[in-house]
Amino acid sequence: MFENLSERLSGVFDRLTKQGALSEDDVKTALREVRVALLEADVSLPVARDFVKAVQDKATGQSVTKSVTPGQQVVKIVHDALVDVLRGEGEPGSLKIDNAPAPILMVGLQGSGKTTTTAKLAKRLKEKDGKRVLMASLDVNRPAAMEQLQILGTQIGVDTLPIIKGEDPVTIAKRAKTQASLGGYDVYMLDTAGRLSIDEELMAQVEAVRDVANPRETLLVVDGLTGQDAVHTAENFDERIGISGVVLTRMDGDGRGGAALSMRAVTGKPIKFVGLGEKMDALETFEPERVAGRILGMGDIVALVEKAQQTIEAEQAERMMKRFQKGQFNMNDLKMQLEQMIKMGGMEGMMSMLPGAAKMSKQMEGAGIDDRMLRQQIALINSMTKKERANPQLLQASRKKRIAKGSGMDVSDLNKLLKMQRQMADMMKKMGKMGKGGMLKQAMK
Ligand code: GDP
Repeated sequence: MFENLSERLSGVFDRLTKQGALSEDDVKTALREVRVALLEADVSLPVARDFVKAVQDKATGQSVTKSVTPGQQVVKIVHDALVDVLRGEGEPGSLKIDNAPAPILMVGLQGSGKTTTTAKLAKRLKEKDGKRVLMASLDVNRPAAMEQLQILGTQIGVDTLPIIKGEDPVTIAKRAKTQASLGGYDVYMLDTAGRLSIDEELMAQVEAVRDVANPRETLLVVDGLTGQDAVHTAENFDERIGISGVVLTRMDGDGRGGAALSMRAVTGKPIKFVGLGEKMDALETFEPERVAGRILGMGDIVALVEKAQQTIEAEQAERMMKRFQKGQFNMNDLKMQLEQMIKMGGMEGMMSMLPGAAKMSKQMEGAGIDDRMLRQQIALINSMTKKERANPQLLQASRKKRIAKGSGMDVSDLNKLLKMQRQMADMMKKMGKMGKGGMLKQAMK
């Protein structure tokens, strides 16, 4: 999902990162394109405008962290702003279902995927949370809908309230409540009737059901492909019934992420789950971070930036960078890099965050780096004198023997380390020549 928006934004930032420093004009140009991209992704105009303004305010107010490129910094600001808009209160996907039996009211238009979602959610509650769930269809207008829920119930092993022909929705809701109490269920779900569009009769019916059931959660199911219509539907239902959350279905579809963004911004209601297909397990928790990451579509660069900010002193990084550009990379630098790697979750952790860095990762493997060895290599460096660390070329046979012995390793291990230091020095020099952001630029190809 979200490919369109993600591709578009990637384009914007690709251009940005190809320039050295980031001027105010660059930010403006970039954000103008972000706005167009959002509109094309079916985000409503006021939402897109507000979003861009929030990002602009943040970007201009914030000094660029020294250890990241300006492009990375903007990506992070946009990412954080997306997460801000997308995030609701509480844990993603959490439901208030204590005090058994807890009623969950499912509302929405016909064809939105309401019945399917009811069953998917019941299955999830049963399997993930170990809840005993009872489902009841209140759709007296379409007898087929009641049978549909019953069939799904059998399929997923969740009980459904026996169908009694001729009952009205309120009576069914009361019966479900009694049955849930007597039967020792943790949760009972009421799948209300839908209409092709919002009308007074539908709303009055849902309202009456709400009043007898007193639901702990009222979840609106909306078709994510309907874009702005989905947002209007949500506004209407919330005004009249009061909803506690939204489930966006068909997010496996044509990939416009705009509905999610507008939905959050306009209704203020949390998106709790997304439907990603017709199968019973195609329901996922809505994760703002993941969705924002996908919208940006730049691997986990944002995560990398965050970790880098935490672990690298900005000034230190800049000093290092200057020296690396001149091809200076000694054992102290290598030690620092090795320590960083350990902090960042090892070689794999670091490399997996840079899209396209597989090539570099292989080089390192060839040079003998794997997580297990990082600490041994640091021990080798620790056995060197200050002079030796600053000038590894001093290391001749006798010194090598002494160092190997001191760290309990073989001379061959030390030779591997030296080879790695030379390769790293070469690599750093090359990256330095690509200029600021060169590494990122490469990574994004
Ligand atoms: P209701 O009228 O709102 O109860 O809608 P249904 O639950 O009957 O769903 C209508 C159609 O949408 C069915 O064919 C479902 O299989 C399909 N559907 C529901 N959710 C999703 C989803 O997340 N992705 C896809 N691709 N199809 C879905």
